[in-house]
Amino acid sequence: MADLLLADARAAVIRTALRMTADRLVVGTSGNVSVRHGDLVVVTPSGVDYDRLDLADIPVVDLSGVVVDGMLAPTSELPMHLAAYRDHGAAAVVHTHSVHATALSLLVDEVPAVHYQLADFGGVVRVADYATFGTDELAANMSAALAGRTGVILRHHGTLTTGATLAKAYNRAAQLEWLCQVWLTARAAGEPRSLPAAEIERCVTAFANYGQEPGGTRASEDQGPCC
Ligand SMILES: [Zn+2]
Repeated sequence: MADLLLADARAAVIRTALRMTADRLVVGTSGNVSVRHGDLVVVTPSGVDYDRLDLADIPVVDLSGVVVDGMLAPTSELPMHLAAYRDHGAAAVVHTHSVHATALSLLVDEVPAVHYQLADFGGVVRVADYATFGTDELAANMSAALAGRTGVILRHHGTLTTGATLAKAYNRAAQLEWLCQVWLTARAAGEPRSLPAAEIERCVTAFANYGQEPGGTRASEDQGPCC
């Protein structure tokens, strides 16, 4: 296995996919993750239980989606992953079907400003227009809504988050789900208030100044400037 192309990245992809299931951000084999190395992308395969994956199964594709290694076919959502790399300079992508984010997508067009943690996404997270899973149209809708952000919600579908590392993209997926749960919890009890837009902007600046790396993507793996 020592000579396997991008073995460490393949292992990280399997670990992250398993964690996504254990943390209930997806059910079964839904959702997918990928990480970029140079001109190659390591991505979860289509339709195989994550706990049955071997390193050699994991597909490696180029930036146009052509498979260059791996025993299994890449996820059907590969167009979304490639759009995040091509259009937004992402280094890693996590796509979930998490419950609260998907539920919120049925009610509003963006994540209400319930908490400063939204600043880690570059501002208020948008809900992308619906399109059928696996299509170029879904990738285009996702990419448009991701502009200037590190996360997006896909209407009637789930979430997509990006990061400088797989760990960072994963953390954002978990944080986004939590933010949506906070709003839905408040919404069940009354009419939630939102933080002013100027305060979110102030927090965006504070997050951006914390662990900033060239190109605008934060290198830090932890939670943010405060916690
Ligand atoms: Zn999906």
